[in-house]
Amino acid sequence: MTTTVHAYAATSPTGPLVPITIERRDLLPHDVRIDIEYAGICHSDIHTVRGDWGPITYPQVVGHEIVGRVAAVGPEVTRHKVGDRVGVGCQSNSCRTCEQCRQGRDQYCLNGNTQTYNGIDPADGTITQGGYSQAVVTNEDFVVAVPAQLDAARVAPLLCAGITTYSPLKHWNAGPGTRVAVIGMGGLGHMGVKIAAALGADVTVLSRGTKKKDDALAFGAARYVDTTDADALGELTGSQDLIINTVSAGLDIATYLGLLDVDGALVNVGAPAEPFSVPAFSLIPARRTLAGSTTGGIAEIEEMLAFCAEHGIMPETELIGAEQINDAYERVLGADVRYRFVIDASTFA
Ligand code: NAP
Ligand code: ZN
Ligand code: ZN
Repeated sequence: MTTTVHAYAATSPTGPLVPITIERRDLLPHDVRIDIEYAGICHSDIHTVRGDWGPITYPQVVGHEIVGRVAAVGPEVTRHKVGDRVGVGCQSNSCRTCEQCRQGRDQYCLNGNTQTYNGIDPADGTITQGGYSQAVVTNEDFVVAVPAQLDAARVAPLLCAGITTYSPLKHWNAGPGTRVAVIGMGGLGHMGVKIAAALGADVTVLSRGTKKKDDALAFGAARYVDTTDADALGELTGSQDLIINTVSAGLDIATYLGLLDVDGALVNVGAPAEPFSVPAFSLIPARRTLAGSTTGGIAEIEEMLAFCAEHGIMPETELIGAEQINDAYERVLGADVRYRFVIDASTFA
């Protein structure tokens, strides 16, 4: 026995997402069934369904910024109860036993964690289906409590955009006295700016054109530089301790490495299909680091939610109905999102 729920799925790399029904499994002892209220649209959803990262199996329901209410729990669930407001992010399971999992870094599980969509569900071997749906069934350890003071209609993007920027900012010690630049101010980028500013860092936004300048300063940036202005970018040479690249497309990464001071790090979280070209001498003379980072572990997501609650940090969102998903995708691809689309899951019915 399974439960049939309404969802929106991609059925090919090129076609629109369409209404569909999918099955959610009956609860295993440690499972939580969540009635989804809101689901954010991450650029990774678009990369996935369009096959940017390789072929996938269709139909595929994406969405890994999920917020809702616990509707039912399995008999051995202890972490959540019916009625709780909870969230699910990018990972929905992991091995729990490897060194990374034991350190709370399930996003780096050495045995391969289970992605919330387009992963293999260890419970039944099926391909996982994500948050653009009415309900989801997830192991309790990968369901996080959402603090009551965070607005349910806006909080979903913290589950990916929030944690994906929070985690490297913390790991590379962003804070008072550090100079942090964020490249690209979309969903991830705008959260990176807000979080880095709240951590006390001196924040520079690097974005194309001047359309987002006022927003960047309002989000806490100390300065804004138009990346299409080579002279203005050049003035930042050697000036940054940490750069977070959130750009979804290929980038002349050497130019941005040049903005790092000695021992600075450029952490790439953007995930374009194309490889970067990295000249050796963009790194060597200043002992620079080019690094990557993915999402964050469950404990770190809870820490990030508490940090956002304490500092009053929320994503800027535009609430849409399911029938607007395809238009929203085009707007994300055109960098015309301010700054995250959130789907009202009641519209999947
Ligand atoms: P998004 O909202 O579309 O933001 C991406 C931003 O990149 C845009 O707002 C734009 O910023 C800039 N950009 C887009 N196309 C560009 C181009 N051709 N040249 C230069 N800049 C361009 O996307 P997102 O949801 O924040 O995701 C960003 C990337 O991170 C995606 O590749 C996504 O898959 C990846 N991601 C990675 C992780 C992880 O764990 N590492 C997690 C989530 C997402 P401006 O308009 O300000 O220039
Ligand atoms: Zn994401
Ligand atoms: Zn593991």
